[in-house]
Parts: sequence; C-alpha cells; structure tokens
Amino acid sequence: MIPVNEPLFISDEKKYLAECINSGWISSEGPFVKEFENKFSSYIGKKYGVAVSSGTAALEVAVGALNFAPGDEIILPSFTIISCASAVVANGLVPVFVDCKEDTWNIDPEKIEEKITKKTKAIMVVHIYGYPCNMEPILKIAKKRKLKIIEDVAEAIGAEYYGKKCGSFGDISCFSFYANKIISTGEGGMVLANDKKYAERAELLRNIGFIEKRRFLHEELARNYRMTNMQAAIGTAQLKNIEKLIKIKRENGKKYTENLEGISGLRLPAEKEYAKNVYWMYGIVLDKKTGFNAESFAEKLLEKRIETRPFFYPLHLQPVWKKINIKIKKEKLAVTENISRQGLYLPSGLALKKEQIEAVCDAIKFILK
Ligand SMILES: *Cc1c(COP(=O)(O)O)cnc(C)c1O
Repeated sequence: MIPVNEPLFISDEKKYLAECINSGWISSEGPFVKEFENKFSSYIGKKYGVAVSSGTAALEVAVGALNFAPGDEIILPSFTIISCASAVVANGLVPVFVDCKEDTWNIDPEKIEEKITKKTKAIMVVHIYGYPCNMEPILKIAKKRKLKIIEDVAEAIGAEYYGKKCGSFGDISCFSFYANKIISTGEGGMVLANDKKYAERAELLRNIGFIEKRRFLHEELARNYRMTNMQAAIGTAQLKNIEKLIKIKRENGKKYTENLEGISGLRLPAEKEYAKNVYWMYGIVLDKKTGFNAESFAEKLLEKRIETRPFFYPLHLQPVWKKINIKIKKEKLAVTENISRQGLYLPSGLALKKEQIEAVCDAIKFILK
C-alpha cells in the first residue's frame, strides 16, 4: 500500500525528547515550549507565538483573542476544514461562507465584498493544500472595510506570496503541527501575532483563563489548550530541518506535475508567478467527462493499493448547522460544490519515494485511458 501520508523524523527529535524525560520537564511549563514559540514566530516573521494543543485549538483561540461581540460575522471559505467554522461558532460568532476559485481552490477575492454586512468583523483566509491565497485584493478589502485578517496556515507552512511567508499577513495567524502537516509535533498548533494584546489574550484563552493578578481568580471561562514540552521538543527539532522538509514537498509536487501534465480531464494544482507552493497535499480534480467522481476514482486507485483522501465537504452544506440551530444562508457555491465532488488528493507524505510517485501516476494514466 502507498499511504496518503507518512511522517519523516531526520533531525534531533529523539535527543530533544529524551531531554524532556531526563529533566522531568514534560508539561507545558518546560523550556522547549518558549523556544519553539520564539523560533517558529521568527521563522514566519511575527513577534509573538503562543503554542497550543492543535490547529483547531489555534483557530478557536485566535478568533477569541480578537474579542468580537456575540453575533458578529466572520467571512471564510466554504472549501476548508470544519475547524475554521467551529472556531467562529465556539466564540459566539456567525460564519459567512464564500466560494473558491476554480484554479487555486482558495477563497475567491471577488466574491468577498458582496458578503460584507454591518456585522462583519474579519476575513479568515485559508491557504489550501499549501497554495497561497491571492492576498493583495483581500488585504485591500480588509483595509477599506476595516476588517481583521485571520490566516489559517495549517497547510502552508513555508509557502510564500510574492516572497513573503504565508502567516505574516494576518492580524493573527494559525498553524497546525498534526502528523501530516509540513512540520509536526504529533498533535499541536500555534497562534502568531504582532500585537501584544492579541498574544496575551491568546495565552489566557489556552490556559483556562488564568490571569496574573491572582492565581485561581477568573474573569472569563477558557479551556486547556496547552502544548506539552514533549511536543515542543519534537517541533523544535523539526523546525531545525524545515528547509529540507519543504524542499522534499516541492520536489514531490513537481514530480507529480511532470508526470500528470497534459492528461485530459485532470486539473492539477495551480502555478502562478506570485506563489511558492509547498504542495502540502497534491490535489487533483477530475472533469465529469472522465466518467469518474472523486469517490469512484479513489476506489479504482485503492484497487491498485494507493490510498487517497477526498477533498473537503462544503461547509455551507454541513448537516451540523441545522442540528445546533445556526442559520446558514441557503445558496449554491458552485465551484466549491464541484471540486468537493470531483477532487481528491494523492499520497503526499514526506517519506514518499520517487518510485511511489511514478507508480501513482502510472495507475492514474491506466485508469483514465
Ligand atoms: C489540519 C488543519 C486544521 C486543524 O489542525 P488540527 O491540528 O488537526 O486540529 C485547521 N485548518 C486547516 C486548513 C487544516 O488543514
């Protein structure tokens, strides 16, 4: 079987982890947490880093750190993971969904303004599958309409837009270090900001609302989203090696493209002059004319012992909203709905071998012949 993901540990992960055990520092109070926060925030280009227990927690803490009023609206793509919307809802806010672009699968900047109301407070951008969003028009809208930018960079660590790192654009940006992300801590995440008050509020929100004034005195309720020293130790080691990991991802992505280019009925990841793609996951979208959708194509690949994953399910069509009584506008977001049916991603892990990429491409060509 060629697995859809397999992590790679080729740095000081074991050594740093042993330091945690040997020193007894295993909780979030240990020294690797600060070290990882400092090194990761300077890698991306933000002042403050607040490490948390997952990317999902990072999003919830980030939205909370911006401190909007209940009922305020956040604009976000429909084509993303549920964590983006649940972070909004968990903070008492309303998610407003926007369709994505046909070629990049990222939020369509031209469809944002029509969704802005008096209650809109922020735009959440998500760099899908390692490909940077077209930030310039989005930043322009945000400036003109006085909206905050929340950046979800879970899939795009190291990706660049006109030479600037993804995650450096947002008022607050969120990262995941889940096992399949560019760098991993097993489970983990981080919130980055330049504004000290956002960072301080993020610290409070990850740590059950503890404040400086008096231990065990609480002015608000919050959860425990702390990262352990052991996770931070692995993250610190992974970060030392990040350029190499990104190089592997980009080489694998290019290898896929070389092998799959020109096959009719197959849309490959976008290439634009402004973007450095880190190819977190190599996605393909099948034209309906091929006679396949993502599900039937995945079955064919699985027969050849190749594991894939379907694209995200549109957030505006999720059954959960009805169940918890959240009002979502009934509308057709055609691009999102189409790629959700027709798109899937191929094995893309850091441990993937060149021969495996070729085997996947051969299988695709054979099935589509
Ligand atoms: C993985 C991911 C998350 C969630 O991260 P977890 O660490 O798994 O909670 C959030 N947003 C995007 C775009 C992701 O891909």
